[in-house]
Amino acid sequence: MAPKVAIIGAGFGGLCMAIRLERAGIRSYTVFEKADDLGGTWRDNSYPGAGCDIPSHLYSYSFEKYASWTRRYPGQPEILGYLSHCADKYDVRRKIRFGTEVRRAAFDGRHWRLTTTHGEEGEQTEPTEATESFDMMVVSVGQLNRPHLPEIPGMSDFAGTSFHSARWNHDHDLTGRQVAVIGTGSSAAQLIPPVAAQAGRLHVFQRTPNWVIPKPDAAFGPLTRLALHYVPGLQRAYREAVYRYGEATLYPALAQGWSAGLLRKQALRHLREQVPDPVLRAKLTPDYPIGCKRVVIDSRFYPALTRDNVDVITDKIVRITPRGVETTEGLREVDTIVYATGFRSTEFLAPMEVTGRGGRSLSERWARGAEAYLGISVPEFPNMFLLYGPNTNLGHNSIIFMLECQVNHIMACLPRVAGQGPIEVRPEVMAAWTRRLDAAMDRMVWGSGCQSWYKTAEGRVTNNWPGPTPLYRRLTARPPGDAYRPSPAG
Ligand code: NAP
Repeated sequence: MAPKVAIIGAGFGGLCMAIRLERAGIRSYTVFEKADDLGGTWRDNSYPGAGCDIPSHLYSYSFEKYASWTRRYPGQPEILGYLSHCADKYDVRRKIRFGTEVRRAAFDGRHWRLTTTHGEEGEQTEPTEATESFDMMVVSVGQLNRPHLPEIPGMSDFAGTSFHSARWNHDHDLTGRQVAVIGTGSSAAQLIPPVAAQAGRLHVFQRTPNWVIPKPDAAFGPLTRLALHYVPGLQRAYREAVYRYGEATLYPALAQGWSAGLLRKQALRHLREQVPDPVLRAKLTPDYPIGCKRVVIDSRFYPALTRDNVDVITDKIVRITPRGVETTEGLREVDTIVYATGFRSTEFLAPMEVTGRGGRSLSERWARGAEAYLGISVPEFPNMFLLYGPNTNLGHNSIIFMLECQVNHIMACLPRVAGQGPIEVRPEVMAAWTRRLDAAMDRMVWGSGCQSWYKTAEGRVTNNWPGPTPLYRRLTARPPGDAYRPSPAG
């Protein structure tokens, strides 16, 4: 009998899992989604200018080519449209329970008991709690789903309007306003150009400069779109070329190989060409190796910073006052603060409480940093599989590729789950995986003296995959074999 599967999250990962089950004829699954729409990070991040810096044809499922992309790099509405199209085409929307948050998941020796609450955040009535059992649980809650708000004294005293980039306040018109943007990561780089064009004055607070390389975006002309649609194999060839480019040129830079110097030169040239003022250029020049933090891929960010109505402030923020942002050099009066301050990326499944075999707590197991075999499985947590789990993020290629590899692995585990009951990854396999990961991590640039969302406060890189992605595909394509064992009692 097909196992009863709970999928948590209806973003790119959860939908991919649902579609694969559906295509395999397995209908005994439920997708839990805490929000009232699908899309995950692409539903949450609706700030002006939001989009992806991975080309459209690669930032999509391999099994669902899409002729409708209008640009080389997709904007957020288009990505959301694509996901909606996939959910409808493969008929998985009917299986999504919207407005239902999984608060707790506990393994009872045979099944996962999920405690859910129904009701939207902020609703007046108390959410109702329910419990349901499943044979297997696929957790796909993303790495960047919980906004990180900084702890700056006085934040709650601010008299104006403030919000996080991933919780954009669309009712708040920025026309002519005095705006502060705190943070200069990828989100800030995308939202600053449209905000600068609308605001009266924009104060950009930068703590650490990022390396920035150009994004050669363009709309597809009608002929290109027709060709991509109708010429056999063209879309696949284009996708493959984009994928290989990332592996062949960007990955070696992150592994501190031959292309690191070239990438650095490209970024410095981009800065020189777009920022004529040497004082501003100095502020924007990073002093750590390129790739250590996520490289910003954008061609509109620097020009926005050179506008007359934009200031880049690098003085340390001391506090927020009712009237604005105070730095060591004085107060910047503003009526709006946008926190483009990133996400609580190393906390993985939080705030969900997960307890595995014998009541073991996942958050305790991960106290020194999250880890999972292939980024997918955790010893003592039988029949629990993660999508976009620990050490599966990329700085150089498409996450959708990684998600599909993970779903392949989970699908390969499925007959064993159905046939033998609970299975779990062997502890010695997990230990060997960690050793291998640590060795590979030593080569990578992420440990080279910068702080980033890729690592814990103690400096352990818990988010990124340190190898080339074809290797990850090979590892996840292998039959699960001896890596798993029937779950022992207790
Ligand atoms: P982020 O890269 O973590 O950037 C957060 C920014 O906030 C940094 O500039 C950080 O400065 C600053 N910050 C945090 N706390 C601060 C404080 N207390 N005081 C002053 N500044 C503070 O977050 P993000 O820009 O939201 O991007 C997160 C990730 O999402 C990206 O790296 C990327 O992977 C993904 N993303 C992708 C795209 C895309 O096109 N594919 C677009 C947007 C986002 P420090 O650097 O000094 O910490």
